[in-house]
Amino acid sequence: MSNSLLSNISLKKPINGFYNINLICKIQCFRKLSKILEKDLNDLEEPMKYRDWSSEDVEIDIEITSKNFGQFLPVVSGELRTQYHLACKNCLRPLKKVIRLPLTLILCSNSDTENEINGYDLWELSGDEIKVHDLIEEILIMDVPLYAKHDEQKNCITYNKPQVSKQRSIVTPFADLRNQLNKKK
Ligand SMILES: [Zn+2]
Repeated sequence: MSNSLLSNISLKKPINGFYNINLICKIQCFRKLSKILEKDLNDLEEPMKYRDWSSEDVEIDIEITSKNFGQFLPVVSGELRTQYHLACKNCLRPLKKVIRLPLTLILCSNSDTENEINGYDLWELSGDEIKVHDLIEEILIMDVPLYAKHDEQKNCITYNKPQVSKQRSIVTPFADLRNQLNKKK
């Protein structure tokens, strides 16, 4: 893994100047994210090979600096770009979600009172510092959809119609019977 991803951002130590990270790594560099995507892909009818989805590029283009908001806090701005392979929960076939995440974050220890300051979103850390890698991974995980579906109907093949009408003809008599019983009560 690139050294710049292993460096720590600390809430206690203001950053002198700007710290730029421009690099491309792979989805598989992020183990927690990979686990989550792998679990989602378990829903596929036909399994996808690990290397086919885990070798997608993650483009990291960020700048880290400190700004004075009454106290000096780390500010992360820039963009993350990648693609997630997921299982469509409608048709159980693969889909690709393009991820473009513009970032304007203030890292802080407590964001109970506000969600944003001067157009920056607040990102609460559980401790006093975080590895750049872990921060990026947390941000990427936030953008994994819980319930992925194809955007376009034409890519999403769900039930074929004969099956549905067949099911209905079986279900309906019992539904009618149930209705009649309910009326008698
Ligand atoms: Zn679908």
